[in-house]
Amino acid sequence: MIRGLKPIDCDVHPSVPGLKSLLPYMEPYWADTLVQRGMHELDTISYPDNSPLTARADWRPENGKPAATLEQVQSQLLDPFSIDTAILNCLYGVQLPFSEDMGAAYARAVNDWIAKEWLDRDPRLRASILIPVQSAELAVAEIERLAGDKRFVQVMTLVAGETMLGRRHHWPIYEAAERLGLPIAIHAGSSYRNPPTPVGWSSYYIEDYVAQATTFQSQLASLLAEGVFRKFPDLKFVMLESRFTWLPGFLWRFKLYWRGLTMDIPWVDLSPVEIVQNQVRFSLTPFDGPEDTADILKIFEHLGSDELVLFSTDYPHWQFDGDDPLPPGLPDDLVRKILVDNPRQTYARL
Ligand code: ZN
Repeated sequence: MIRGLKPIDCDVHPSVPGLKSLLPYMEPYWADTLVQRGMHELDTISYPDNSPLTARADWRPENGKPAATLEQVQSQLLDPFSIDTAILNCLYGVQLPFSEDMGAAYARAVNDWIAKEWLDRDPRLRASILIPVQSAELAVAEIERLAGDKRFVQVMTLVAGETMLGRRHHWPIYEAAERLGLPIAIHAGSSYRNPPTPVGWSSYYIEDYVAQATTFQSQLASLLAEGVFRKFPDLKFVMLESRFTWLPGFLWRFKLYWRGLTMDIPWVDLSPVEIVQNQVRFSLTPFDGPEDTADILKIFEHLGSDELVLFSTDYPHWQFDGDDPLPPGLPDDLVRKILVDNPRQTYARL
């Protein structure tokens, strides 16, 4: 229990133990060709295996990968934290291949592996549909293939792909997700088609990791300016591992220029602040706020709504120690909203 509640954990990362685990879920052509090519696993390099951030020390097994078996997730997360429901967001790099068909083959295999090896074996688990965002056509096909299975509660992509997420060629994905009652999750990570910063490639992992927050801001600006939220008013976007203390400043700036530049984007006929409050949500952990309780409360006050933040542990990533990932000092009613009410309101299928 966390503060006496059984939380809904919106960001949990099972690891694919290796390419071999996926081969039974691939069509023979893809299984053969990936083996023949000697393809290595597509673990997202946003979380290198040996980085301390990738797994909390007490969640790192002696052999093999963290969070690679149901037993690990049950004994380290679901049972000790009394998790009511956990949404599995598998960070397997299905966005990495340049081949759209190969991306789709990987996405299908990971999704079917998740359904069979995880969802079938513990009723507390739900999952995101991974999509080959390289091709909207193939992404829509994958969403439609799995939408009948209500244990898939959202569609997920990485924050940095080939093109900006507001661009019109992505809209068929949003149309399908809205029609089928699935939010779009955008998780930190990249297919590395573009540098992680707007001014070029960085030298160190820490630069890449810190820069993810600005990538989220760019994508939110793109979704706002291109009119995605107005075109799909019933579609929710969930920013996972985006951090959110940047949001008040970002919205202050965006709203200021929106007022002055309405002629630039007249289709955005609602305040960006209202749009975000209606349609965008953010995962709690990793929390990038200050340590002082009064300052933390100020940040939540500046968000302007107590419905924006969804509980997450980001298990097995090392974002907190001990057994309580909540920032200190949050009042009980806000804690209840973050842990239970907000996830339920965000995910129609929960
Ligand atoms: Zn995460």
